[in-house]
Amino acid sequence: MLSMQDLSKVYRTHLVETHALREFSIHVEEGEFVAVTGPSGSGKTTFMNIAGLLEEHSGGRYQLDGVEVSGLSDRERSAMRNEKLGFIFQGFNLIPDLNLFDNVDVPLRYRGFGAKERKLRIERALEQVGLGSRARHYPAELSGGQQQRVAIARALAGEPRILLADEPTGNLDSAMARAVMEILEGINAAGTTIIMVTHDPELAARARRNVHIIDGQVTDLQSSFADSALGV
Ligand code: ADP
Ligand code: ADP
Repeated sequence: MLSMQDLSKVYRTHLVETHALREFSIHVEEGEFVAVTGPSGSGKTTFMNIAGLLEEHSGGRYQLDGVEVSGLSDRERSAMRNEKLGFIFQGFNLIPDLNLFDNVDVPLRYRGFGAKERKLRIERALEQVGLGSRARHYPAELSGGQQQRVAIARALAGEPRILLADEPTGNLDSAMARAVMEILEGINAAGTTIIMVTHDPELAARARRNVHIIDGQVTDLQSSFADSALGV
């Protein structure tokens, strides 16, 4: 589903070169739930941005759903991003002047879906995160955990193959973080691949696989995915 081989990412600012990722390799199968951990500045966000086709890598190979990403034009990259990927961030990035329905609608309008299709997707996505009855409410009327669930609904409405979540619970207390994690687990159980950066060891332990990044490299792979897929 997602495969990086000896990937590198170099940032050049003025005279400074930062090797954010080096010899970075990872393979994520369809249906996995991967938690990414590592110290601040180790390259987690860089990995997520490259995985999400938001940034280009400097060297190495990246295949997404069988397509080599390096050769794609900007237009092809954004088409692939819209079609296959969903994003959740630490800040929920909701638009305060729009109610929940319209917030979830924003990327769907951008993609040019018709009104009927959008309504169907929005209602289904809000139901999935337990906010079906709140569609006409505004973000300010919700708790942080509920706002993050709206952001999840907005990502889900695009029906992504992979959900990329960069510290989705970073701004939440532990009860709300667990509630968000339960929703992500449900989404994963329904078939969506999830890659989640987290600083929370309890949440990382709940993911089926942990990937640890230090100094731009994957240092440690503990996979229980094969075992659980076999029902062991
Ligand atoms: P987080 O660790 O929550 O993902 P950020 O993504 O905001 O935080 O930043 C992570 C690191 O990347 C920080 O050390 C920050 O200084 C650095 N960083 C982010 N954007 C830039 C930039 N445009 N130029 C230089 N450093 C940056
Ligand atoms: P993490 O998410 O693990 O905190 P990042 O991926 O944000 O780490 O950053 C990895 C390294 O790359 C850090 O040294 C950071 O300062 C640097 N970095 C990140 N983004 C930029 C940028 N846009 N320009 C320059 N340096 C950056």
